[in-house]
Amino acid sequence: PSNVYSFFHRTEMSRAWVKKAMDIMPGGVTANIKSFPPYPIVMKSGHGAYLEDVDGNEYIDYLLAYGALLVGHNHPKIKESIVRQMEEDGTNLFGTPHEREYRLGKRIQSYYPSMEMVRYTNSGTEGTLLAIRLASSYTGKQKIAKFEGHYHGGYDQVLFSIHPDDQNAGPAHAPKPVAESKGIDPNYEKNIVILPFNDLKGTEAILKAHKDELSAVIIEPMQGGFIPATRSFIHGLRKITERYGIILIFDEVKTGFRIGIGGAQSFYNIQPDLTVLGKVIGGGFPIGIVGGRKDILMECSPSRSANLLGGGTNVLFHSGTYNGHPTILAVAEAVLDILEEDGKAVLKRTEQLKKELEDLFRKRGIPMNALGEGTIFSIVLSEKIVKNDRELQTTNLSLRKKIDYLLLNEGIYTKPMNRYSLSVAHGEREIERTLEAYQNVLYKKL
Ligand code: PLP
Repeated sequence: PSNVYSFFHRTEMSRAWVKKAMDIMPGGVTANIKSFPPYPIVMKSGHGAYLEDVDGNEYIDYLLAYGALLVGHNHPKIKESIVRQMEEDGTNLFGTPHEREYRLGKRIQSYYPSMEMVRYTNSGTEGTLLAIRLASSYTGKQKIAKFEGHYHGGYDQVLFSIHPDDQNAGPAHAPKPVAESKGIDPNYEKNIVILPFNDLKGTEAILKAHKDELSAVIIEPMQGGFIPATRSFIHGLRKITERYGIILIFDEVKTGFRIGIGGAQSFYNIQPDLTVLGKVIGGGFPIGIVGGRKDILMECSPSRSANLLGGGTNVLFHSGTYNGHPTILAVAEAVLDILEEDGKAVLKRTEQLKKELEDLFRKRGIPMNALGEGTIFSIVLSEKIVKNDRELQTTNLSLRKKIDYLLLNEGIYTKPMNRYSLSVAHGEREIERTLEAYQNVLYKKL
């Protein structure tokens, strides 16, 4: 069997670069998640479905910037949209309303009819932050409920129970909050309620107990982008939240545009009260879009404000120098153009890759589900189809990790243990090369 880190004799430049970067950035990275042992591979460029690192190694990219690049790297239409926008409107950020904000909003609404009104933000994190404040402002309540294993951004209000430590996490049907960071004000723990994903009975009991204090339930309709809510669970959740007057927020930062162009809400045929989009629609640039019921979004209408800042006690204050950045909204329009043309083909190709990978593992005698919907999935090594994070922890994670590291030798890139995302640039050739790579690892290297 091959040494798990055998690839890293081909990444000397990365090693040297990370060592140097550690002088100025903790761990040599700009986000903790970018780090992995023995050291992260430093990339230099991306074209289509491919990444090239600083040592000149080439990879088919399945990380795709944590799913953001459904249009792939360096798409000509994205480049063209940036240049055209700058030539037509100038390089300036206006700091004023502009036409694209309306135009893109209407186009988004055509795919996400639940988004009766929208606001733009600069990231998914800022998006969920705004959605939660909208729910609190509208209901006059402070507590929020989130599901164990679900991620909504790295801030104090929601950074709980993402990879819960079993000792403190409580029983599966009634999980307890576990902070995911040092430095979180313990007061936030009092305002968070943790729910068991895909367990309707457990979820209903907890929501009932807290119904008078809860402003919102926030959910990733597919946990981590790849563990789908069952239909009965998510429809049940919609009914319960309606019954108790709790705002239902769909965090579609990962699933938006990836589970088909209309996201998870179209897949499940559910109207959430609020939706957060991000990642894909930015085509590689930072964006978030929050939308939903008009009566809730109107909480932040400046007409309610008594001062020139648009703030005060009668209005939800929402601001941001870069919100609705004209260049990024031009990119977002190009992303929609590309998806309208090529989006269906990526869905088909992902299905093909998932099926062929499952066949390959079956023939090799390793139980595996390529779990997920649309253009995103994960390799889950287990007989059974997992339904939440705790079940995922019982699968063969050490073998999965080994396979991911060995695939680096074969030119397949995802951060070890991450999901697989596809792009419009992943064609027949890339699928074939990926299957060959897996064949080599499963039969010759394990
Ligand atoms: N919500 C979900 C479901 C996400 O996957 C992410 C990012 O991975 C976020 C929110 C935060 O988005 P951003 O990284 O753009 O702040």
